[in-house]
Amino acid sequence: MPSLLVFKQENVYNRDMKEKYDLIIIGAGPAGLSAGLYGARAGLSCAVVEKAAVGGLATTTADIENYPGVKRTDGFSLCYAMMEQCTGAGAETVFSEAVGVERTDGGFLVRLANGTSPSCKRVIITAGASPKKLNVEGEEKFTGRGVSYCATCDGAFFRGKTVAVIGGGNTAVEDALYLEKLAAKVYLVHRRDALRADRVLEERLKASTVTPIWNSVVSSIDGQDKVAQIALKDVKTETLSTVSVDGIFVAIGQSPNSEIFRDLKTDEYGYILTDEDMRTSIDGILCAGDIRHKSLRQVITACADGAIAASTAARDLL
Ligand code: NAP
Repeated sequence: MPSLLVFKQENVYNRDMKEKYDLIIIGAGPAGLSAGLYGARAGLSCAVVEKAAVGGLATTTADIENYPGVKRTDGFSLCYAMMEQCTGAGAETVFSEAVGVERTDGGFLVRLANGTSPSCKRVIITAGASPKKLNVEGEEKFTGRGVSYCATCDGAFFRGKTVAVIGGGNTAVEDALYLEKLAAKVYLVHRRDALRADRVLEERLKASTVTPIWNSVVSSIDGQDKVAQIALKDVKTETLSTVSVDGIFVAIGQSPNSEIFRDLKTDEYGYILTDEDMRTSIDGILCAGDIRHKSLRQVITACADGAIAASTAARDLL
């Protein structure tokens, strides 16, 4: 599998970022890379700004089987291919964190943590979402010492061990099935007795060795230097119990990375509101992908959003 870090250093890192672009895209996940591809192909000068690694949350998915035309891949490889296509079309990628967006007479300044503030005529925000925390005792203390938010990143540390995955959505079930291949024992702890995950994943879970623990929430994570057990509460009977585990994978959904964009209208959870052309409440700022208020958050919908946002920008500018 290619390394995005090597890719970042050798092929993409842009030391000579220009001062002016038609379009700056904040975030290099599937939405941002698709926006870069469409923007560059439409003839716009584009920069995709990324604070961490290319691909965003999608790179934490071990198996992608619902991206049309690609029977089966992993998030890392798919995003790597998107990156190559995006930069191949002419979009530049800049590794720095966007810390603010300011309006100017002709457009916007995007303030970056590297001290530069390139200008542009249109901004597309594709900053994605981050995993939610349980907010229980022991979670912070044991993060990195048994508590993880990424099964594909950290699963290998739990080879032959006992782990619990928390959540009942697609991520939790996929994580549990992925970990089943590595760990000796996998529990899936869900607060209800019905999964939110897609039927196909539910069937696979039933056929697996993963042990579901229904109607239960984690009340604390305990241990000495590292995780040794989780305390659970049965939400129906209020019964308390403990389960010995070496690791706990939290997969209870995501929160939008929209804090720095607080002037934009959002829904009650902080997801940015757009119209169907991906325009936000501020003229000239567009938004695409998981950070946007929408009903289906998938790689394919992120890509579609990015394509629409860049096409809207191109229509405005050309
Ligand atoms: P999700 O669909 O929002 O599911 C979160 C799960 O965590 C739910 O089962 C929820 O329980 C549970 N939960 C939420 N807060 C909790 C808390 N405080 N304590 C305990 N449990 C809690 O999140 P996701 O699975 O990360 O998926 C996010 C989006 O990405 C979804 O749109 C999903 O379809 C998509 N996705 C798709 C794929 C794929 O298609 N292959 C893979 C991964 C993710 P309730 O069910 O009771 O609400």
